[in-house]
Amino acid sequence: MFDLAGRVALVTGGNGGIGLGMAKGLAQAGARVVIAARNAEKSAAAVDALKAQGSDAFALAADVKDEASVTALFAQVVERCGRLDILVNNAGTNIRKPVEQLALAEWHQVMDTNLTSAFLCSRAAYPHLKAAGGGKIINIGSMMSIFGASFAPAYAASKGGIVQLTKSMAASWAVDGIQVNAVLPGWIETELTEGARAQVAGLYERVVARTPVGKWGQPEHLAGIAVFLASAASDFITGTAIPVDGGYSIAG
Ligand code: NDP
Repeated sequence: MFDLAGRVALVTGGNGGIGLGMAKGLAQAGARVVIAARNAEKSAAAVDALKAQGSDAFALAADVKDEASVTALFAQVVERCGRLDILVNNAGTNIRKPVEQLALAEWHQVMDTNLTSAFLCSRAAYPHLKAAGGGKIINIGSMMSIFGASFAPAYAASKGGIVQLTKSMAASWAVDGIQVNAVLPGWIETELTEGARAQVAGLYERVVARTPVGKWGQPEHLAGIAVFLASAASDFITGTAIPVDGGYSIAG
């Protein structure tokens, strides 16, 4: 049921953090994994890590907020692999400033990286998923898809948008056998949250105290949900947003 042998999975931002955690899971389940990100050195190291676990993987350079780069990315994937079955829209960024301090360029930087990228990549993936007889799109939201964030308004807006884009694409493409779901990670120890952990006194401890399972998440905690949503096990699930947060979002 969870077997992904013969499937091709593209993970944007798969060269580190949550993307690499998901890529490892998908590859372990048998998928051929393509990593798309900008930093070639990090991507090469990620491919090495996937090959070290015996998986089939390669990396392509892409800026997922750039339409031409996304077009070229999907052309290369299909040229090299002959098909595409799974897209994980994971690439993301954050700028920690309240609204009154946020420049328009910073707003666009976050919205384009987190939300426009998911639109561009999903639109580019659609004909290939359809041609494969169906497929899976997994969009990475956040707890900020549910809550606002006074310290990260563009991030929260982009992640709220991810959930609505997920529902819209799920409704449109169900007829094509394509399921589209979102994953809402809680606090995960990655480069993205390194800055917040360094800048915000007591953040690490506060997250631990509020999270029912009593710890921060690790990228590997996202591997299981990626395999589930990429596999036949989730064929009757579409348009949902699933928290993977150790219970953070249900704690008072
Ligand atoms: P990291 O900073 O560790 O990884 C971000 C990834 O995105 C990198 O691989 C980076 O690669 C890639 N990326 C960023 N911009 C672009 C771009 N323009 N084009 C292509 N790739 C890009 O972050 P996380 O692993 O923590 O985050 C992954 C996702 O999970 C994000 O969407 C984030 O919002 C979300 N998330 C994270 C949480 C956490 O607590 N860590 C909580 C909730 C959600 P490169 O720089 O080489 O391009």
